[in-house]
Amino acid sequence: MPASTLVLAALLFAPLPHMPPSDDRPFWSDRPTGAAFEHRIDGRIAEARAIRERLLGVRGRRTIANTLTLYDQLQRQLEGAGNQATLVAAVHPDSRLRATAEAAAQRVSALGTEISLDRRIYDALTTMDTAGADAATRYYIERALLGFRLAGVNKDDATRARIRALNEELVTISQGFNRNIREGTRTVTVDSAGELGGLPEDYVTAHRPGADGKIVLTTEYPDAIPVLTYARSDDLRRRMRIAFDTRAFPGNMAVLDRMIARRAELAHLLGFASWADYATADKMVGSAAKASAFIDRIAEASAAAAQSDYQRLLERKRQDDPSATAVNRWESGYLRELVRRSSYDFDSQKVRPYFPYEAVKQGVLDISSRLFGLTFRRVSVPVWHPSVEAYEMFEGGRRVGRFYLDMHPRPGKFSHAAHFPIRAGIGGQDLPEGALVCNLPGGTVGDPGLMSHDDVVTMFHEFGHLLHTQLGGRGRWLGQSGVKTEWDFVEAPSQMLEEWIRDPAVLATFARHYQTGEPIPAALVRQMNRAEAFGRALDVRAQMSLARISLSLYDRLPAQVNTDSIVQAVGAAYLPYPPMPETHFQASFGHLDGYSAIYYTYMWSLVIAKDLLSGFDRSDLLAPGPARRYRKAILAPGGSAPAAALVQRFLGRPFSFDAWRRWLDSGA
Ligand SMILES: [Zn+2]
Repeated sequence: MPASTLVLAALLFAPLPHMPPSDDRPFWSDRPTGAAFEHRIDGRIAEARAIRERLLGVRGRRTIANTLTLYDQLQRQLEGAGNQATLVAAVHPDSRLRATAEAAAQRVSALGTEISLDRRIYDALTTMDTAGADAATRYYIERALLGFRLAGVNKDDATRARIRALNEELVTISQGFNRNIREGTRTVTVDSAGELGGLPEDYVTAHRPGADGKIVLTTEYPDAIPVLTYARSDDLRRRMRIAFDTRAFPGNMAVLDRMIARRAELAHLLGFASWADYATADKMVGSAAKASAFIDRIAEASAAAAQSDYQRLLERKRQDDPSATAVNRWESGYLRELVRRSSYDFDSQKVRPYFPYEAVKQGVLDISSRLFGLTFRRVSVPVWHPSVEAYEMFEGGRRVGRFYLDMHPRPGKFSHAAHFPIRAGIGGQDLPEGALVCNLPGGTVGDPGLMSHDDVVTMFHEFGHLLHTQLGGRGRWLGQSGVKTEWDFVEAPSQMLEEWIRDPAVLATFARHYQTGEPIPAALVRQMNRAEAFGRALDVRAQMSLARISLSLYDRLPAQVNTDSIVQAVGAAYLPYPPMPETHFQASFGHLDGYSAIYYTYMWSLVIAKDLLSGFDRSDLLAPGPARRYRKAILAPGGSAPAAALVQRFLGRPFSFDAWRRWLDSGA
């Protein structure tokens, strides 16, 4: 019997309520190998089981103290274990440890499902005496019970057994889907540096020919995006687009079909007509029908402007090719760049020298300091890869968080950008910990890591999730910590923060030319903003095509779902480009797993984000007053009240579409 189990056996007989020790250890402290990592996760699983027994063993009157407290601690063990396993599976350089972590995540998830279907726990929470409980605690109980019902706790034994089996199968399907994407990087080979015409000099320098004279490019973001934006060679862009949109193809096609079929079955067992109905039931939007109407509303609002954006791209193409009748998908980013140069006198390469990775990183930290009164200190604690940096966050001399920056690509690593929570904060108990995992330029000796403005936006955005998670991690309950608000609100704080790095005064605080040290000129920033607004409506339509694909794959019987047909049909309905039947981008559309039917949440959140901005002084975005008020109203409460109520608290009224509409129109 492992030592931790003995300790747990002893804990079972401890007097109630028992508060476990607080946790502030750096997550990778003992640099666990495969066996040690397994042992760590299984120790938490055992602890979670032990807490469940204590919760069920309570005699007499059930109270917040003897029941909800234990329930929250049970979630603390489960969530911590799940977070650690998920992160390690996504980032560890050793593929064997990634596989160990995936297996551990399956065990955590299996126990999570078991608990969510445990009628005894549901009954315990239902029969608690809640007299005297504060509003946040009541809301916690309400949401927890809703979660149990949505999980199927009220179903009969046979149905719950099937639900359990489906959930377990879905975990392995999801892991397979993500693994295929992580490991599905493709390459595009060019014959000589001559084919890289139009690409920035530092890009060409970083991609030297091999012994055979050929240059190999990958579909990782720092390789692929510049090609699609700048490469003069139409053939190179076309080949890159195809390679990029066939990542994880064909491997993930059958995996995706199975995911859709199992989710549909699960939704039916739970009493919903479709997975889309199920997935929207506990969101702000409330139902698949309302999500669909939202997509229609946004798509309609942007239709005319998107068409005129497209015409401008086509006119630009005709300058070089008078017989052109259409703009292809692989040309759109490139032509957009040309229009920005000719009509807005703006070349997006001109801003890159002001965005070397190290300076941007410091800028993210400094701006967060100014806005929220925080300080950051680099610390030397164990990390999973030498390129990963660790920081601690302080406020008034007190340490309030820790995070890791894993910012550059490497083989086998998660290929998108995201904040991975590691440990949720609980006031007075656990120090929040998280990791930013991105794939940005830089990270190699001699490469200044010049970032595009989009890269800078991405970094601020992801850091926004980290701040929300950590600043919202001081409440009483883990179940309301950080971003545990309605899912379709989660993006809003990060999207709002993006506005800061379009502001000349804010940018001038950190964006300095990597060779001359000159701060980025305000005129250049204004030019950039004008130029970037061009194509906004096309972007909105592209977003809505993704939202519609995500909803359509899950809002009907799986027998009616052919992912290729839906992707092609939605593309044709929402976007002006000719179809590319040789691509299958759904195979690498990771959100179809994590977000499933609810990709609309990005635009839903953006509508709110644009409105939230109206609570700030646009002429002085760094003013601490509104930022502190915002932090208190929106970030600090985490999930302790409905998101709409938090927004109303900050704005003094319910959110509306007006600010979003003005933003859309100003892009025309
Ligand atoms: Zn985000």
